[in-house]
Amino acid sequence: MKNFKQKILEQAKRNGVQVTALREQVLDIVLQQTGVIKAYNVLSHMQQQSDGAVAPPTAYRALDFWADQGVLHKVAAVNGYVLCSHAQHECGSHCHSRSGSEAHHSAFILVCTECGEVDEQTLSGEWQALRAGVASSGFALHEEHVVLTGICKKCQK
Ligand SMILES: [Zn+2]
Ligand SMILES: [Zn+2]
Repeated sequence: MKNFKQKILEQAKRNGVQVTALREQVLDIVLQQTGVIKAYNVLSHMQQQSDGAVAPPTAYRALDFWADQGVLHKVAAVNGYVLCSHAQHECGSHCHSRSGSEAHHSAFILVCTECGEVDEQTLSGEWQALRAGVASSGFALHEEHVVLTGICKKCQK
């Protein structure tokens, strides 16, 4: 996980954004979570790690920062955040090409309602069709991800 964090920090540096101690703390917490990341959960970790009280907006702002950086997907439908599966890749030759400026991408996010596990599918062809359909009705999309809930393979057994 250490390399992954390093990669994120380097990416932030290239983007010219400042990673404060607080943002780094939130990143550490986020990288230890699995499934849907809830802000109150992150906040309670922050409070455990600090002497004083931590104001809830502090956690939200830091999470939104990482969402802006493309590390997290902010998913209103599950009232939380999801670690972007592309951000997790150790970039090798097989890796999705993902240039520095292109932090955001479209995704179908599959959430298991039993165990809370999250899977992410890019399905770019499906996205194109969806975008075209939405645009033809004159609607402007906000969030470029779709959340689908269901039961994962493991939980079906
Ligand atoms: Zn993603
Ligand atoms: Zn499951």
